[in-house]
Amino acid sequence: MENSKQMRKWLDDMNLSHPLVIAGPCSAETEEQVLKIAHELKDTDVNYFRSGIWKPRTRPGNFEGVGAIGLKWLQKVKEETGLKTATEVANKAHVDLALEHDIDLLWIGARSTVSPFIVQEIADALKGTDKIVLVKNPVNPDLSLWLGAVERLYSADIKKLGVIHRGFSTYEKTKYRNIPEWQLAIELQTKFPDLPIINDPSHITGKRDMIFDVSQTALDLNFDGLIIETHCDPDNAWSDAAQQVTPKTLIQIMKDLRIRKETDEEAEYNNNLSNLRAQIDILDNQLIDLLGKRMKVSDGIGELKKQKNVAVLQSNRWNAILGNMILEGEQRGLSEEFVLRMFKAIHQESINHQEKIINS
Ligand code: PEP
Ligand code: MN
Repeated sequence: MENSKQMRKWLDDMNLSHPLVIAGPCSAETEEQVLKIAHELKDTDVNYFRSGIWKPRTRPGNFEGVGAIGLKWLQKVKEETGLKTATEVANKAHVDLALEHDIDLLWIGARSTVSPFIVQEIADALKGTDKIVLVKNPVNPDLSLWLGAVERLYSADIKKLGVIHRGFSTYEKTKYRNIPEWQLAIELQTKFPDLPIINDPSHITGKRDMIFDVSQTALDLNFDGLIIETHCDPDNAWSDAAQQVTPKTLIQIMKDLRIRKETDEEAEYNNNLSNLRAQIDILDNQLIDLLGKRMKVSDGIGELKKQKNVAVLQSNRWNAILGNMILEGEQRGLSEEFVLRMFKAIHQESINHQEKIINS
């Protein structure tokens, strides 16, 4: 697949003065709920009304979506509010029904993108469609698998394309529901600058209070739009209750976000600067996180040394680490002086931690 301007023509043709906004509930629950939310989102920045009809749930026994009847509710949304509609499809039967009900934008969910068989089945069912198709990243951080799915659609002559970055699942517990792994999204943008990329702060954070910050980072990294789960009664939503916001909050979020304008030279400079600063902020957070983890491991060593009653400082081991790190640093363009100073500071912190444990 070559980088092609054709992929983003649908977005450019919309001529938006703000990022693309897709909003609506995680799941369609009742006709009344769907229409109430849609009416509250009418005449706002929202461009597409989203709603899950078939819900891929991790475990059985949870609400699995209302099914095809929800497509009729989405048609009503379009008739009554003029909002275009969007839903997730996960097999050929879903695609056929969605097209029959004139859904404007279809997305492939994270649990489907992992399966080339499913993606191919969807691509074949959509062959040549003029609907917009967005591909969520697979649950695992695999850029080739993500791009492979886009490629299958592109080869099926589907040219209104885009991707949704919804974060990646990990075994490790973090403040995110799905870790953003921003570098991966940046790499994708570098390879395919004309492939529209939408951020999904709802599934990245899993928590409504974190949605604004993640949205801002995404815009600073030149994302083209946002997909935000919006519900009139978030706490009582039938799925993803903790991460949904009310239409009122969504409108406020859109108002408060700093939106880049790419008109003149000054703006171009500011965009580049905020893009690079966003990258630095992400890396600095990772540095702090790693240092915290390193100290926890060091605490474990402190406990062992305490049991065995050995000295905190073991200079052979320490000299070996320093020698290694100077070599590793050299390969990455870091001066010996810097590496020495940084590791001495880390070592000192480590000693302080261990001494506290041994003396406790
Ligand atoms: C969703 O958008 O409601 C959804 C199920 O998302 P994901 O595929 O990202 O888990
Ligand atoms: Mn959801």
